[in-house]
Amino acid sequence: MPNRPPNAERSFIMIKPDGVQRNLIGKIVGRFEDRGYKIVAMKMVHATTEHLEKHYADLKGKPFFPGLIKYMASGPVCAFVIQGLDAVKTGRAMLGATNPLASAVGTIRGDYCLVTGRNICHGSDAVESAEHEIALWFPEGVIEYEDTEHAWIYEN
Ligand code: UDP
Ligand code: MG
Repeated sequence: MPNRPPNAERSFIMIKPDGVQRNLIGKIVGRFEDRGYKIVAMKMVHATTEHLEKHYADLKGKPFFPGLIKYMASGPVCAFVIQGLDAVKTGRAMLGATNPLASAVGTIRGDYCLVTGRNICHGSDAVESAEHEIALWFPEGVIEYEDTEHAWIYEN
């Protein structure tokens, strides 16, 4: 939501089927936790093609779209929401570039994968798309709770 406080910005992050099959859930979620982001929603989902077509509606018509939907529907994903300062832009920076070979070492894609069509994770690209994606994947809403580390991560 655009009028959420700066340190409560949210982004939708998803570990794709290859990341789940390669047992990278813990490592990927851990990076966001270690950075200081709060996990406010998380679930395993084996998404339908219909749901995935909604998620990737902006890309409909691209030559890679059918292959992308097939890949994303090939197994369960781990969908979660991070909350914290600059979650969308910093979340994307932590993921790396769409093409893993162009991703800096130290980013998730730069450390764990090699090709665009198997780039193991998704992250929202704007605050508005994050809100849209969170509503699509978590229609039940996220969990609001006090984070006891808050005062050690933020000045106020
Ligand atoms: N993708 C692909 N081929 C391409 C471009 C994208 O297979 O040439 C896939 C890739 O998995 C990517 C996803 O489609 O992560 C969504 O593309 P987008 O441009 O939104 O990249 P992202 O936001 O994931 O970095
Ligand atoms: Mg994208």
